[in-house]
Order: sequence, then C-alpha cells, then structure tokens
Amino acid sequence: MPVAPSAAQLAALAALIEPGALTTDPSDLATYGRDWTKVHEPRPSAVLFPKQTEEVSKILAYCNANDIAVVPSGGRTGLAAGAVATRGEVVLSLARMTHMGDVDLLGQTVRVQAGAITEAVHRHCEPHGLTWPVDFASKGSSQVGGNIATNAGGVKVIRYGLTRHWVLGLQVVLADGTVLELNGALEKNNTGADLRQLFIGSEGTLGIVTEATLKLARIPARLDVLLFAVEGLAGVLALFAEARKGPFALSAFEFFTDKCLARVQKHRGLRAPFDSDSYTHYVLVEAEGDGADDSELETWLGSLFERSIVLDGTMAQNAAQRRSLWELRESISESLSGTGFPHKNDIALPVASLDAFCAELDGVFAARYPGWDICVFGHIGDGNLHVNVMKPDAMDKAAFLAKTSEADATMFELVRKHHGSVSAEHGIGLLKKKALPYSRSPSELATLSALKRALDPKGILNPGKIFDPL
Ligand code: ZN
Repeated sequence: MPVAPSAAQLAALAALIEPGALTTDPSDLATYGRDWTKVHEPRPSAVLFPKQTEEVSKILAYCNANDIAVVPSGGRTGLAAGAVATRGEVVLSLARMTHMGDVDLLGQTVRVQAGAITEAVHRHCEPHGLTWPVDFASKGSSQVGGNIATNAGGVKVIRYGLTRHWVLGLQVVLADGTVLELNGALEKNNTGADLRQLFIGSEGTLGIVTEATLKLARIPARLDVLLFAVEGLAGVLALFAEARKGPFALSAFEFFTDKCLARVQKHRGLRAPFDSDSYTHYVLVEAEGDGADDSELETWLGSLFERSIVLDGTMAQNAAQRRSLWELRESISESLSGTGFPHKNDIALPVASLDAFCAELDGVFAARYPGWDICVFGHIGDGNLHVNVMKPDAMDKAAFLAKTSEADATMFELVRKHHGSVSAEHGIGLLKKKALPYSRSPSELATLSALKRALDPKGILNPGKIFDPL
C-alpha cells in the first residue's frame, strides 16, 4: 500500500518543480488537504503546485516508483471528500495551471489547463457570445479539472447535460507518468472505445487531467427567470409538465422548500420573495428564448394562474432581479452550513418515480427524525434531490451521525427499489463509498476494480476514493 514520503523523498519531489512550489506549511496542509466536507481531518505530508504537464508527469513517475500516495486537488469545492488527504499523502494541486488558450470561433472550442476556474472560462468566452455551459453555485472557485474528474452537474443539466458532454479532448497523466492525449478537438472520432470518458467522473483514481479542450455553446439571446410557489411536490411536478411544454427551451427547473428558504433568509438576510409566508414549495424556472417575442411567454404564464397550477409567481424584469431570484436558490447550500450542521445526501430518481419515492421517504423520515429540520432542494427537472437532515442543536455530533447513518441505509434501499442513484452529481469520494453497492452491481464493481488495477497497479492515485486502497 502506498505510504507517506520521507523527508529525503520530499526534497527529491521539490527538485522536480520550480523553487517554492512545494509547501509543508501547516496552514497550507490544512487548506489543501480538504474539500468543502468537514467530516475528515486533513493530514497531507506536502502540497505540490506544478505549472506544466511535464512536471505532473515527473511527479507521478517518481511517486509511482517510490510508492507515494497522491491526492489530486482542484478548487476543493467537492461535497463527497474526493479531494481529502487524511493519511500523509502528497497533494498535487492544479491551482497554478490556469492558462486558457484562444477561443476557436469556427470550431467553438477552447483549450485550457486543468486549474482554470470555471467562472474565468465563462468570462474568457463571453466576449465571443459563447459559453462553457457547466454552471453551479461554486463556479467562482471550482476548476475545470475538478469538474471533469467529478463529471460535475449543476443547474443547467436539464438543458445541457453533465460536464462529460462538454469535453472534446483530454490530456491525462497516468500513475506511471505516461501522458495521454485523447481525442484532440474532434466532435466525431469513431476509432474504438472512448478512453476520454473513462477519466471523466473517475475522481482522479485512474489518472490526473492536466488539460482539456472544451466544447462551447452560444449564449442565449434571452434568459427569463421566474419563481413560483406551488402546492406540495405534486404541484412541483405538475408545473414541470407545463414547463416542458412551454414556448421556450427550459434551461433550469430548480425546487426548494420553505425550510430551505428560512435558512437562506436567516443566513443572508434576504427578503421573502412573496407576500404570503404560508407556501411550502418553490420552483425556480429559467427559460431560454430567441429574444423575438415575449407574448407567448405571457400567455403561458397566464394559463398557469387560470388553471391554478401555481399559487403565486414572479418574473425577473432585469439582470439584477434575475440574480436576486437565483440567489435564493444558489445560497441554500452555504446557508445550511452557515446556520447548522447538515447531513447531506445527493440522490437521483427517474422523474416519473419522484412522487412515489418521496411519499415513502416522508414515511421513513417521520419515523426516524420526528420533528427534525429536513431541508430538501435540488435539480428536480433532472430527478436530482439534495436531502439535508439538520442536526438538532442539543444533539451530540457522534449520536447524530450514528442516527443518520442508519436512516441512510433505509433511504438507499428505497433509492435502489425505485432504480435511482445514491450520488447524482457530488460523486463518491470517501463519504459515499459504503453506499456505492446500492447503485452499482457486484459485476460492475469488479469491472471497475480491474480497470483501476490495470491503470494504477500500485494504487498511488487518490487511494481510498471510490475503491478500497490496493
Ligand atoms: Zn446540486
């Protein structure tokens, strides 16, 4: 099993990169040894900041030859402890690999290094009327390489799909230092199995992404953002059916409950969106239009009220109002952590099964968590629910975790029964590893392990994430 490096090995690693690009400073170790999860104690040996792929290759070749464990690290915004170093590993941070090439206007692509920040890529492409349509609340910190390694989801998946749909080419460094260039900038390339897809979503366990050619989309001419209050989950799903048929391309369909809104208002001091505070279920709709005509949208809206599909609603009239409505939704995650201790789950169900699943889940929660604060929100158009059980203030953390762990097992059984997934977009990391067999069959897990042994026979890459340490 790979181990922590000795002082002499750290000196040898430092010699492979620029002076000052290796740190053992305790505050750096604490910062770069973890992601946004707060469950594990970070304990890396060192943090390395290469600037070029060649340096990454040399670092991995050395670590592989010397059995040193490596944790690849991006913007560290993950919620599954996929970038946490708990056992003396060296952290390989891509934070200094931020170069972005010129936008290819004809091909609508851009080649970037893995450490480029998601929002910086958006800004880089925006003057050309183009965007990389991977979008979520942590875009100001998350990095392209991390998005690819975790196949990040977010708020636009209903329109654009997951990160894997927007990656044309990948440069990946294997555990032994081999550099692979996969697919270049090709849209069409039917020359056998697509190795690129193997690395997307594998959380740095099979190789480290160092560069990527990203596929871009046109920025829509018009974006409307609307917020509705509806009656229960049935109301959310009824509105979804209408939104699917609406006179626009649906680019987000997000839902949250009154309990989430209360936390956001407490944490951020934001105003309530409607006069009444008796609503329980809210939906944010984002609609892409061609900018030609808004009368169709008004007719659609009118019919929602006439038929009582919605209880209340508002449409943003300008960019500032659009941002305010989005803020209600995008502040939820930080507001839950800011006002308490959430136990988070990120599950996916077929949309058609959501109603039945949630009815059963309510029964489980009522028995397991009587009177507790449970905050549910998510990308409901994709069948993706973020289920957050808040620790009761008086309860001890260990007792809380024991209780949620029991209830998780029951919830995951329900997820399996309804053919869902135990991780919709956050990934597996250390946090959801025990849950993996609820969504992947023993034969699938054996196939994945065979791939891991083939690509990383010594098990130096991100040990303990997804797979047991080799
Ligand atoms: Zn999400």
